[in-house]
Amino acid sequence: SGANPAPAQELFTVNSPNVEYTDDLIKSKYTYRTTAVSKNASGKYVASPKETIYDFKVDRKIPKVGVMLVGWGGNNGTTVTAGIMANRRNLVWETKTGKRGANYYGSVIMGSTTKLGTDSETGKEINIPFHDLLPMVHPNDLTIGGWDISGMNLADAMDRAQVLEPSLKALVRKEMATMKPLPSIYYPDFIAANQEERADNLIPGIKASMAHVEQIRKDIQDFKAANGLDKIIVQWTANTERYADIIEGVNDTADNLLKSIEAGHEEVSPSTVFAVACILEKVPFINGSPQNTFVPGAIELAEKHSAFIGGDDFKSGQTKMKSALVDFLISAGIKLTSIASYNHLGNNDGMNLSSQKQFRSKEISKSNVVDDMVAANTVLYKEGEHPDHTVVIKYMPAVGDDKRALDEYYAEIFLGGHQTISIFNVCEDSLLASPLIIDLVLVAEMMTRIQWKSHGAETKYAGFHSVLSVLSYMLKV
Ligand code: NAD
Repeated sequence: SGANPAPAQELFTVNSPNVEYTDDLIKSKYTYRTTAVSKNASGKYVASPKETIYDFKVDRKIPKVGVMLVGWGGNNGTTVTAGIMANRRNLVWETKTGKRGANYYGSVIMGSTTKLGTDSETGKEINIPFHDLLPMVHPNDLTIGGWDISGMNLADAMDRAQVLEPSLKALVRKEMATMKPLPSIYYPDFIAANQEERADNLIPGIKASMAHVEQIRKDIQDFKAANGLDKIIVQWTANTERYADIIEGVNDTADNLLKSIEAGHEEVSPSTVFAVACILEKVPFINGSPQNTFVPGAIELAEKHSAFIGGDDFKSGQTKMKSALVDFLISAGIKLTSIASYNHLGNNDGMNLSSQKQFRSKEISKSNVVDDMVAANTVLYKEGEHPDHTVVIKYMPAVGDDKRALDEYYAEIFLGGHQTISIFNVCEDSLLASPLIIDLVLVAEMMTRIQWKSHGAETKYAGFHSVLSVLSYMLKV
């Protein structure tokens, strides 16, 4: 009875000799066309079309999925929880501009369509919800839980976040009040000192340990069993941490990282401990914050265990606009010469980022997003040339969660002329991030049900590479 009821069956079938349906699987043969480029004796490029045939299989059974959020009691955690509840119960609430109802706007999977093909009779395009492209979990069916260093129940935490309308909060308050985050790990050096006040819900110990890894694993197992779930996805939506130093012998390899956790090394962050626990548990772990949770040792560990990881940093407001606009301008042959990005925000994320080391993590992830586009245009930019790029973030309590993002794009155009584009973007931060959290769960879960191999080869089917790059639409790095 939700706003978006899960389809009773798949919306379409593919009628092709390359696709086969069984009760449990969709099997397909896919020709991947690429171009291999080499240089000939006279130094010229030779482009050769290349075809590789792959076999894919997708498990059609939609599992019962749980999401565990690290930082569940924060602005994003409470907003996404209340949002799913509102959709599940098809809630409608009063606002000063009239009634509003639950929806999944801002989610690519739930809010956008994709072209299936052209109607063979009318010639009209047939567009279907993205969610119906393959069997996917419906967000209304997700079970949510998680950890927070603040023990506040989710109803009070939702008030603290100051994101949702009072009329909506009143409708979900009772159910939210029954939810309380599990105790978490807190190594004070990794987040801003100004967060200490809320840290009242802690697993003992102030540096990494195997006991912490084991406790997180146990929490995941217990949550799964208590709710009768088939699968868990974990996401870090806790505070931005400072970067961890990459140190030889400490976090450079999988073995060294595990040894460092055992030895209680101080450069292992809470988010890396969560990642390691999830990898060992073979539970996908997605990092929604900018810090370098995935130190080289963590990535190697994920590869060893064929576990999925994704990150870093939700791409929700300013950076989402930037990715689209910079791609558009540079692809249009316009030479961007500077990007100046200012932000001010007044939520707890902003307070945490007012500390220099945590800001630095954000500065890096926000700056990286244009690199690929610049590097790809060898006409506009000489090797090593790059637009000037500045990112400023200031804490301004009064604006709360309604972050202001001001961007100036300055470009060189025809014959030495200039174009200046200014954008003023009020990003209702948690309302933009929550649908991304949902998309990341839906897509990551689906990726666990897809396997592939080279067509005709003796080899067995395998999963995708541990680093789920398909998630990068929703993430900055
Ligand atoms: P928030 O400060 O409201 O919530 C973070 C929560 O994490 C808090 O409740 C805090 O108590 C908890 N926490 C801190 N350390 C923890 C730990 N070790 N274990 C468990 N819980 C811990 O922040 P938010 O607005 O919800 O944003 C969450 C994260 O997402 C931030 O790092 C932010 O930079 C990132 N992010 C947000 C957006 C967005 O909201 N649009 C976009 C990109 C990235």
